[in-house]
Amino acid sequence: MATEIVWFRRDARLGDNPAWAAATKSETVVPLFVIDTKIFDVASRRRQDLLIGGLSSLDDQLSERGGRLRVEYGDPVDVIPRVRETLSADRVHVNREITPFGVDRDKAVGEKVDLVAHDGLYVHPPGSVRTQAGRVYKVFTAFYENWSSVRLPDEPAPGQASITSDSGQGLPDQGDIPLEAGSMAAADRLLVFEARADDYDKERNRPDLDTTSHLSVDLKYGWISPRDIIREVGVETTGREAFVRQIAWRDFYASLLAEMPRLVDESLREEYRSVKWNHRSDDFEAWKEGRTGYPLVDAGMRQLVAEGWIHNRVRLVVASFLIKDLLIDWRRGERFFRHHLIDADVAQNVGNWQWVAGTGADAAPYFRIFNPVTQSEKFDPDGRYIRRWVPELSELPANAIHAPWEQGPIDLASHGVALGDDYPEPLVDHGHARQVAIDAYERARDTG
Ligand code: FAD
Repeated sequence: MATEIVWFRRDARLGDNPAWAAATKSETVVPLFVIDTKIFDVASRRRQDLLIGGLSSLDDQLSERGGRLRVEYGDPVDVIPRVRETLSADRVHVNREITPFGVDRDKAVGEKVDLVAHDGLYVHPPGSVRTQAGRVYKVFTAFYENWSSVRLPDEPAPGQASITSDSGQGLPDQGDIPLEAGSMAAADRLLVFEARADDYDKERNRPDLDTTSHLSVDLKYGWISPRDIIREVGVETTGREAFVRQIAWRDFYASLLAEMPRLVDESLREEYRSVKWNHRSDDFEAWKEGRTGYPLVDAGMRQLVAEGWIHNRVRLVVASFLIKDLLIDWRRGERFFRHHLIDADVAQNVGNWQWVAGTGADAAPYFRIFNPVTQSEKFDPDGRYIRRWVPELSELPANAIHAPWEQGPIDLASHGVALGDDYPEPLVDHGHARQVAIDAYERARDTG
């Protein structure tokens, strides 16, 4: 009797899952997840719990179909061949990963078992949308134009295989999770977002309104497929089109990393590889702890540590502040984000950090530097977002909250704030820091 294994990784769902659909065409299917303890043990507690939550929801869906999720622990390079042999399974189906770690691991597993890779994590397979000359796009607009003209693949229909019911070593206990995990929860989030999708283009940059979809976590764990999201949202209005364009950025960064794995550690643009970074650990600590004296930056960093999620606009501002105002190596910020974000995804994180640093594909030019005060005035005009995360400034009026040092001490005191005491003085002067950064980038570019 033919038995096939589905090795779930970042695709903990049964709907629109090409690996699942292919394996269920056999007679018996083994749904398997391997908790790689090397990775699991160093992940933040929040991410461990979200992973377990998503897997337990997958297990529930399998139970409804008469099966169970089989969970094993250890290095997949050893575990997968062992399970395959024990069950005399024929092939192991996966959805293809593109991170350097995932690619190396799958190569090692593929040397021991018949590993069949499908394309289920992105809208179009990374690397499939290319320039006429056959190169990977390094400019997003051109990528997007081509990407959006490629037909969306049909949803693959699963077969009728019977599902095994051995749960293996079982899931670890799950702690509190910051949001509901799994496919049902993802579908609910999509539904909530859909109701306001038409206004996405107008509101997407406002952290105070917080009306974006919050689907990045669902996409990270694969509780929902990006194709299903697009099928559901469509591009009928400007708001919906703007949203789908953001999903295309996800494909864009995945394509880049698939082609150039070194992007994780190295600036794409050679001319900026020798920027002389500031190594002062006090500055880095102040940024990490939300003590820079710039309210929007501090609000963002405090939310990151407290919740593991921040709005895209605020990610841009805090990343720019680290790199350009503090002149700290983007890789240190990227690693810190990667540890804390609940939607941490190497391709997206590295791609975006390099974009802000001005060192990546289609990146902001090095001299276009976010001003943390004007960004704050524009995107959190009443200071509602800041008040939530920097409560010591909550009594300040909207015109004072973005740059409290511009107020006199008496005015500040009348709102219960003593700078340097209740809230830090600004760590740097933005205008001066900006020039120092531009000089450092130009020196690197001119001296090589
Ligand atoms: P929405 O605005 O609702 O967007 C819908 C989806 O489109 C997102 O879920 C995401 O999959 C995709 N998307 C939106 N913006 C981007 C973008 N700039 N780049 C790539 N995809 C995008 N996103 C991650 O998923 N993981 C990361 O580790 C990550 N790190 C980032 C680091 C920095 C410095 C910056 C500036 C951005 C980063 N992003 C990352 C991109 C973006 O901030 C998040 O995807 C978005 O904020 C998630 O919220 P949402 O789902 O409500 O987004």
